[in-house]
Amino acid sequence: MSTITNHMPTAELQALDAAHHMHPFSANGPLGKEGARVITRAKGVYLTDSEGEEILDAMAGLWCVNIGYGRDELADAAARQMRELPYYNTFFKTTHVPAIALAAKLAELAPGDLNHVFFAAGGSEANDTNIRLVRTYWAEKGHADKNIIISRKNAYHGSSVGSASLGGMVGMHAQGGIPIPNIHHINQPNWWAEGGDMTPEEFGLARARELEEAIQELGEDRVAAFIAEPVQGAGGVIVAPETYWPEIQRICDKYDILLIADEVICGFGRTGNWFGSQTVGIRPDIMTIAKGLSSGYAPIGGSIVNDEIAEVIGNTEFNHGYTYSGHPVAAAVALENLRILEEEKIVEHVRDVAAPYLKQKWEALADHPLVGEAKIVGMMASIALTPDKASRAKFASEPGTIGYICRDRCFGNNLIMRHVGDRLIISPPLVLTLSDIDEMFERILKSLDEAQADIIEQGLMKAAS
Ligand SMILES: *Cc1c(COP(=O)(O)O)cnc(C)c1O
Repeated sequence: MSTITNHMPTAELQALDAAHHMHPFSANGPLGKEGARVITRAKGVYLTDSEGEEILDAMAGLWCVNIGYGRDELADAAARQMRELPYYNTFFKTTHVPAIALAAKLAELAPGDLNHVFFAAGGSEANDTNIRLVRTYWAEKGHADKNIIISRKNAYHGSSVGSASLGGMVGMHAQGGIPIPNIHHINQPNWWAEGGDMTPEEFGLARARELEEAIQELGEDRVAAFIAEPVQGAGGVIVAPETYWPEIQRICDKYDILLIADEVICGFGRTGNWFGSQTVGIRPDIMTIAKGLSSGYAPIGGSIVNDEIAEVIGNTEFNHGYTYSGHPVAAAVALENLRILEEEKIVEHVRDVAAPYLKQKWEALADHPLVGEAKIVGMMASIALTPDKASRAKFASEPGTIGYICRDRCFGNNLIMRHVGDRLIISPPLVLTLSDIDEMFERILKSLDEAQADIIEQGLMKAAS
C-alpha cells in the first residue's frame, strides 16, 4: 500500500479510508458514506486539503500545534536523532541523552519544586501514570486506603480506561465499563450553564466547596488527589469564576490532598504563561503534559512531579512504564520545540500581543444575536450560543444541534472551529499574527451570520421551556 499518495483522487482516498480506517470519536458508518476531509499539507496556521482548499486551523490540530505547522527545525531534529539513536528504552538501568536533556529542561521550566519527569507517549498514558503514582505514594507513606481520586464532571483527561475514568464525559462513561473504582466526580464550575441565580463569584465558591464536601463525606483518610484542567478544554473551554481556584488550593492544602493539574492543553504557552497553573494561581504537586510539549510533531507526554513525591516513589520499585517512555526521537523533537518557544519568545507573543488583541475581538462577539457569554484565556476561547442572552436560555432543539450548524458553516468557510454542545471553541496556533486574527474573525462572523439565517429559517431560534 506504499503507493497511496496525496495525488490520488479524493474520492478514492475517501473510499479506502471508509473501508479500512476507524476514526476516533466518530460514527464510522455515516462518516464513511459522507467521506472524511483529506488533509494533505500544512504551513503556519493553514491546512491544505486534497481539493486544494486552504483552511485556517483555529484549533491547532487538537489543541497541540502551538508553534504552527511546517517548522523544518523539528523535522531536522527528528531525522538527526533517528540516524544517531532511533530507539532505546529507559527501563533497565539505562538512559539516553534526549530523555535526560528534556527532563532537565522541563524541570527548569516547571514552577516550584516540580523537578522530576515520568515520560509517556501522550496525555492519556500520563494520567494513567498519575493514578498509579498518587496511590503508590500514599501506600508508601502507610496510607494504602487513601486511594480515591476526585475529578470533575465534563472534564477530559484522555481516552484510556484509567484516564477516561478520571474524565467526566457522560458519553465516554456510557461505553466500555468505566469508570474504574475509587474515582469520584464533583460538578464543574460552568457558570453560564449551571450557575442559576448565583453571581459568578458565589457560584465559583460553591463549586469549589463541593470538593470540601466530597472530602468530608468520603473521609480525609480516603482521598488521595484532586485532578483538574486549569481551564477545561474539550468540555467547552470552561473558564472558572475567579473565586474558584484559590478555594480549591485552600482545600487541597487543608486536607493534605495532592493537586494534579492536567496541563495537556494549558501547558506550553496556551494561556499566556508557560503553564495554566501559573495563570490561575495554583501550586500543583503533579502536572500532566503532552500536546504542546512537542507541538504535536511527535507523540510525547509525561507527568512532572514534585521533589517529595519523587523521593517517596523512589523508595520502591514503581512497576510501571511504557515502551515509548522518553522515546529519543519524540524527546529530541520536544526539545527543539521548547527551544523555538523560548528563543522566539512565543509565550511572550501570546501574553503581550496576540492574546490581548484576540480578547478584545472575542469579547465583542457577545454582541452577536446568537452569542451569550464569550470567554477567553490566552489563546483558548469559547462562546455560548443562546436564543436569549438575558435569561441564559438553552435552545429548544436537541443540545448540539445549533452548535453543529455553526460548526458546519465554519467548515464551509474554510475555518476549523469546534463545537461542544451549543458552545463554539477555538484554540489556534500560538504564532497567529494580528492579520491572521483579522482573517479568522472575518470567517467567524460570516459563519455566525450564515448560521443565524439557517437557524431562523429552520424555525430553531426557540428557547427550551
Ligand atoms: C487531549 C487531552 C488529554 C489526552 O491526551 P492524549 O495525548 O490524547 O492521550 C488529557 N488531558 C487533557 C486536558 C487533554 O486535552
